[in-house]
Amino acid sequence: MIDLPGRPDFWNIGYPLFGALVYLAIPISLGVISYGIIRRVKLWKIGLGKSERLHLDKRIYRFVRELMFGVVTHKNFIRKKHVYPGIMHFLIFWGFSILFVATVVAALEFNFYRYFGAMFPTAYIRVEMGFIWDIFGGVLASIGVGMAAWRRYVIRPPRLNTMLDDNFILATLITLLASGFVLEGLRIASTELNPSSHLYSPSSALWSPVGWVIAKFLIFSGIPNTLLELSHKFFWWSHAGIFTIAIVYAAVKFSQIFHMIISPLNIFFRSFRNSGELKNMESFESLESFGARSLKDFSWRELMAFDACTNCGRCQEVCPAWQTKKPLSPRKVIQDMRKHMENQPLEKTFKSPIAKTVISEEVVWSCLTCGACIDICPVKINQVDTIIDIRRFLTLEEASLPKPAQSALNNIEQRGHPWVGTEHDRLSWMDGLDVKIFADYPETEILFWVGCTGSMTDRGIETTKSMVSVLNKAGIDFAVLGGEESCTGDPARRMGNEYLFQVQAKKNIVTLDKFNIKKIITTCPHCFNTIKNEYPQLGGSYQIEHYTSFVNKLVQTGKLNPHALLEQKKITYHDSCYLGRHNGLISEPRKIISSIPNLNFVEIRNNKDQGFCCGAGGGRMWMEESGQKVNHKRVDDFLKTDADTMVVSCGFCIQMMEEGISAAGQSDKKNAIDLLTLIDKST
Ligand code: SF4
Ligand code: SF4
Repeated sequence: MIDLPGRPDFWNIGYPLFGALVYLAIPISLGVISYGIIRRVKLWKIGLGKSERLHLDKRIYRFVRELMFGVVTHKNFIRKKHVYPGIMHFLIFWGFSILFVATVVAALEFNFYRYFGAMFPTAYIRVEMGFIWDIFGGVLASIGVGMAAWRRYVIRPPRLNTMLDDNFILATLITLLASGFVLEGLRIASTELNPSSHLYSPSSALWSPVGWVIAKFLIFSGIPNTLLELSHKFFWWSHAGIFTIAIVYAAVKFSQIFHMIISPLNIFFRSFRNSGELKNMESFESLESFGARSLKDFSWRELMAFDACTNCGRCQEVCPAWQTKKPLSPRKVIQDMRKHMENQPLEKTFKSPIAKTVISEEVVWSCLTCGACIDICPVKINQVDTIIDIRRFLTLEEASLPKPAQSALNNIEQRGHPWVGTEHDRLSWMDGLDVKIFADYPETEILFWVGCTGSMTDRGIETTKSMVSVLNKAGIDFAVLGGEESCTGDPARRMGNEYLFQVQAKKNIVTLDKFNIKKIITTCPHCFNTIKNEYPQLGGSYQIEHYTSFVNKLVQTGKLNPHALLEQKKITYHDSCYLGRHNGLISEPRKIISSIPNLNFVEIRNNKDQGFCCGAGGGRMWMEESGQKVNHKRVDDFLKTDADTMVVSCGFCIQMMEEGISAAGQSDKKNAIDLLTLIDKST
């Protein structure tokens, strides 16, 4: 027996005989964990090697920063609406981390003393440290695990999809914690609280409060000492055995618990792309097939991301498609891909088709690319990448896409815009306005990119005219491309026609470079996102601003001085996904609103970076929608506020909101207006 202060190691077990056997758990655990991971890495390696560059230094910096601010505080977990599961995960993570440290420290203290005759620094306060392990380790972990069990079996939120594996993990954690505490109680009852023991020390026992309470109870129950010692032996081996069996099970089954290892890997290796920026497709000439037909067409990073998923269901909960009863659940997409990856024989699995078998076409076309799933995912999986990869296959290889979407794509190909049947052209909105064309004034500093919606739809034209009026009032010198402007390619890319996107993008880049354009402003969040985030992939880098940021600067610098509107309005603001969540333009529109004196502003639910899509993103503007409509659900949010006006800053959103207000029979009381029109009226 080693004579360290406080709790004797291997008491009642013996050392080295028997006791040292527990150290076998270390190589067994490391071995089976490595086995589990190596098996998986082999699967990931079947995926495409080509991916974006590694940039190891940037990755390490990002990872360490996120580790410090993200993991320590769990801020990604404890977000609005996710406080309970966030706190639960925080307690489980930190409780078990502290218990793990306690085990390592105990082993170091013991072996330092035994084999080097030296005291490990913590050995001097070994007794007092028991309080930290007991309360901050065991108790916190127990509360967390208790909350998890309560949530999974009593609250049962719809987003939780309990599988056998989840039950096994939870049962194992509960058993490990309970056996650990009972073990401690049995030891204390037999030694520190047993006057006949040479280890009798009631004051030391108090430093392990939970063990002390259990020990008191055992003593009070009158259990004889021999039975206490026998039970201690039994619980000691059970505790070690359960731990080892759990690790072996997790490795062989590649259980969800492996997310503890794969999730940090995914966070480390994930793309640097902005959530609104879709993956670039390699040169068309070098590709044998387009998009993802089978697993081997995904990158290794995507295959790894399938394994990183914790099945938490947060993405499903925020998905507007799922909330309106569409068949798409981003959680299920990722989980189905993960399950598919496990099918044997592997050779066949990795070549078998995904679309229509593993993931249905309806699921693939339901996505709005709103990015709510990416934003909420605690392990930073990009579900949209997977969906778009499959869309690319369906569109480019199978020509299998919804008919109205195909018509919009044909229209882009033939006329350079997706608005089939419009009576407008790129110039007609300018009738009666004095607007410069860049070709005639090539020295103009600022290009106003009007966009297809801004020039081809009646509602969009109103906003475009407001923009011209506001720019003129602020004395901004600008010009437009007129007939030389063409669709940015945003709808084509989001509908999976990467080829058409690249044709459009390259054509526009040639035009922009021809005029040596440096500064662009636009009213369209989709054009803004595409030019800002996606054109650089093809060599076009421009300084572009959405009007919410440009006009806000005009207001803040006094170039625009809003005055009170004739009628007092109570308003709310709907965040466009491609402005707020994807590009962080959240405070700018609110600052413009607050600059107008007599507006009474209220926030709508699902706002800012947690905004709810209008239903038109991801090319869905040009697709039929069955069942409850996404825009109707968003208008429900609006009707729950007491605002009479919903302010928007996107040409798609305004159309969707007006249709929703009309469908709800509220057009006489409520309305939607573009922020530009509002600022135009007030200046
Ligand atoms: S991008 Fe939006 S619509 Fe698509 S899966 Fe994610 S949350 Fe759902
Ligand atoms: S993809 Fe992310 S948010 Fe969705 S279930 Fe998996 S871990 Fe949770």
